[in-house]
Amino acid sequence: VEARMAMMPESKRLICQGCWQQMRVPVPIRGPLALPMRVFGIRRSNMNPNICTICELMFGTVMRRRNVELDLTILFADLRGYTALSQEVGMEGVRDILDCFYDECAAAIWQEDGLLNKALGDGVMAVFNFPMARSDHARRAVQTGREIRRRCTAGFGPVAARLGLDPARLGVGVGIHTGLTAFGEFGRAHRDVTAIGNVVNLAARLQGAAAAWEIVVSREVLDESGADDASQVVRDCTLKGFAKPVTAFVM
Ligand SMILES: [Zn+2]
Repeated sequence: VEARMAMMPESKRLICQGCWQQMRVPVPIRGPLALPMRVFGIRRSNMNPNICTICELMFGTVMRRRNVELDLTILFADLRGYTALSQEVGMEGVRDILDCFYDECAAAIWQEDGLLNKALGDGVMAVFNFPMARSDHARRAVQTGREIRRRCTAGFGPVAARLGLDPARLGVGVGIHTGLTAFGEFGRAHRDVTAIGNVVNLAARLQGAAAAWEIVVSREVLDESGADDASQVVRDCTLKGFAKPVTAFVM
């Protein structure tokens, strides 16, 4: 059943993949049965159109109570040159660039069943392997990085032309790390469902070390993703907050 569900195209999956995998509860998110659910505020999640808003709430609470760590892959992608550009192109231009960036990132992340957990100004954070469990989550994250690069390269061309910009001024940097991570609901006043800890911090730092159009990954990601050796360059990065230099691989 699971294999068949995973093979169904995104637009045909009628029940929430998160609720089904984590709790074996079928929550309708598409089709006629989804309509009454909406009366109770149960909708498709903004983080991934194949999961629902119950996941966002319930998983957060459940995870905090159990205090569990999950094996997750975390991806950060950010738009390069954004601050300088935003002074030149005005609000409409900024909107044009960000719309393209967010849309292409979301499509790339959802294609690999990831969660678009956060959109932070000029960057995004994605989580793989929760709530949709995927044993090849590191490989999926790497594939997402490549797809973000491919999609944004294609998408930025027309945007740059509209704004009269050199397309070379627009770029995206990606960082990926994988490992045991606390995922759940954090904060009391402002509740936020997200992943926290060293794995997340290192993924963010690797993204910071990436030049435009580079995907920088940790050794763990390289080992687990089975990525092709020929495409990598090793770089020893001294990262803020990490005592020893971290060996990173550039794709
Ligand atoms: Zn759900």
